[in-house]
Amino acid sequence: MRTQAEIRKGIENDEFVFFYQPKVSLITGSVTGAEALIRWIKPDGEIISPSEFIPVAEASDLIKDITYHMFDKLVKDLMLMTAVNDNIVTSFNTSAKDFEDDVFTNHLLQTLKMSGLQASNIQIELTETATLQATSDIKDHILQLRNAGLSLAMDDFGTGYSSIDTLSKLPFTTIKLDQGIVGRMLSSEKNATITSSSIRLAHELGISIIAEGVETKEQYHHLLNIGCSDVQGYWISKPLPLDQFLHFIASDFNWLVGMPVGLIHMAIVDHVQWRKNLVHELIKAASLPLGHEGRALTKIPPLSSCACRLGRWYYGAGQMFSHHRSFVEVEAPHNALHEMGQKLVSLVRDGANMDTLTSYFQELSTHSIVVLNKLQNLEDEGLADLHRK
Ligand code: C2E
Ligand code: CA
Ligand code: CA
Repeated sequence: MRTQAEIRKGIENDEFVFFYQPKVSLITGSVTGAEALIRWIKPDGEIISPSEFIPVAEASDLIKDITYHMFDKLVKDLMLMTAVNDNIVTSFNTSAKDFEDDVFTNHLLQTLKMSGLQASNIQIELTETATLQATSDIKDHILQLRNAGLSLAMDDFGTGYSSIDTLSKLPFTTIKLDQGIVGRMLSSEKNATITSSSIRLAHELGISIIAEGVETKEQYHHLLNIGCSDVQGYWISKPLPLDQFLHFIASDFNWLVGMPVGLIHMAIVDHVQWRKNLVHELIKAASLPLGHEGRALTKIPPLSSCACRLGRWYYGAGQMFSHHRSFVEVEAPHNALHEMGQKLVSLVRDGANMDTLTSYFQELSTHSIVVLNKLQNLEDEGLADLHRK
């Protein structure tokens, strides 16, 4: 461990830099950004890892000086990265202390304004432990940054004692699945389940999830299979000095190894949930007397075929499958299904009873089965494709 005095001297001598570890989208196969990881480069060229000085700095207010000082470097580096790719999102690590007062928050917002960068180019990483330490002042400052358009990732997800509850404490936009969990996910059923439920949880919350510490092709394939959207780890690349990272993004290499079948599976689950919720609400309402407020059906899932989860996927990220026949064939029955849903809702609102509704319910199920069949075909094609790789 280094001493506080040594670290201070290092800051004065400007010996700290960021290395950048690429993040890759499993949906497009391209680099979406990086995580900035601090390195201390001594005048003799020795590189000191953060584990030798960040814990010392975090034990005092020294961490605040480091974060403040490093943010200016991050912005300068980002100005070069965005010249290569405008949409790059680079995250950096923060600790709860950084947000105790408004010094860093104000500095960040001011620097960002002068840089010409978009707030969306920057993501803040905060661990679960830090989130648990967050006082109302800390939360306010982080919220200020979220409102300014920066995204917020929960780092080391799954290592804390109650990550799920902690997620509700701040408006996180991303979960970073801890590298220990990723490293163990193929070694037991239990670990595999933790990973896939975290991915499902992020999906349900409408936030993204990135797996850290991906070291092998097997892990990469598995994550693709279970619906993870982004990855980071040695299998893609170690953290790189700025010049090498710029080369990395400029080379525009595509990491796509197969169809992201996990996302098709999520679409299937989403659809089943939509149908179940709708049918449940309709049956509940149909048993109520006419004029009862429950007949207004205020809690039903989206009735428009573009607004339900499957629809949002279909007209969004799912379009990457648009050259597959089974994908194209989902649209018509999905629209028919939603029309039937709308019909059922108006019938119930107008007072129809179960007798009248049964045949419409059957028709709804018929359309749903066709939708599921097409999605299943698409998933099978994707799985076959993955096995060929
Ligand atoms: P972290 O935020 O969890 O960062 C990920 C660490 O895992 C990095 O170590 C990275 O080099 C390493 N890593 C990435 N991919 C793989 C992989 O596939 N396999 C393995 N075994 N390791 C991988 P690094 O750079 O030594 O950073 C260690 C920790 O130091 C970070 O953990 C973070 O908590 C802290 N840290 C790094 N930079 C900063 C900083 O600028 N500010 C603050 N406050 N903390 C920082
Ligand atoms: Ca991190
Ligand atoms: Ca981490």
